[in-house]
Amino acid sequence: MVNLRESVYKANIYLWKNNLVYGTQGNVSGIDRKNKSVVIKPSGVPYENLKEGMMAIVDMAGNMKKGDLKPSVDAIHHLFLYKNINKIGGVCHTHSKFVTVFSVLGIPIPVITTAHADVFGKEIPVTDYVDNTGYNIGKTLLKSYKKNKCPAIILGNHGLFTVGENPPKAAFYALMAEYCAEVSFYSLVSGGILGKEIKSLSPHEVEKWYSRYHSDRYGQK
Ligand SMILES: [Zn+2]
Repeated sequence: MVNLRESVYKANIYLWKNNLVYGTQGNVSGIDRKNKSVVIKPSGVPYENLKEGMMAIVDMAGNMKKGDLKPSVDAIHHLFLYKNINKIGGVCHTHSKFVTVFSVLGIPIPVITTAHADVFGKEIPVTDYVDNTGYNIGKTLLKSYKKNKCPAIILGNHGLFTVGENPPKAAFYALMAEYCAEVSFYSLVSGGILGKEIKSLSPHEVEKWYSRYHSDRYGQK
C-alpha cells in the first residue's frame, strides 16, 4: 500500500504543478480509516517549500497526531466529509481560476464536451455562498453531494471541493473540473459574441460516454 503521507504530499504537488493553486491556498487530504487519522497539507506553507514530512496528521476531531506544523484551516471541512461519506478516501480544495468564475456567477458547469461527460457524467453543481463558520461549508457540500452525486462541487463565491476514492483521484477531479470550466467559459462567452447557441450533450449521450469511461473498456488493467 502506498504510504498515505506520500500520497497526500504528491497530490498537493500535483495541484501546484497543474496551476490549480496559488500562494499557500488549496489543499488535499487523505484518510486512513483503520487508524482513524487524516493526513492534510499544513497551513500557510507555500507549495514550493512543501516536503512530505511536513504533512500534518490529525485525528477525527482535528487534533494533531503527528507533524510539527499545524494542519490546514480547512481540515474541519475535510473531516466533516470523511465522517459523513464513508466511501471516500481523499478530499481536495482549490480556488482554480475558471471554476471560481463559475462560483462567482453561481451557475453550474454544463456538459458540453465528451471529456466532461466521460469524467463526471453530469453538470458540476454550484452551491449558494456559505461562510466558513463551524460545519457550514461541510454541511453545504454534503447536501449537494447527496442530491447530485457529483464528486466535484463548486462553492458559491469561493472555489471547488472534490472527493475521490483516494487523494490522487480527488486531485484529478479538481484538474478536470478546471478543464471543463475553462472550455465552458470560452465556449459560452465566444458563443455569445458570435451569436452561436452552445448546446449541452443530451442525457443519453452523456450516459453513453460516462459508462464507457467507467467500464473496463477504457484504460489498462
Ligand atoms: Zn477556500
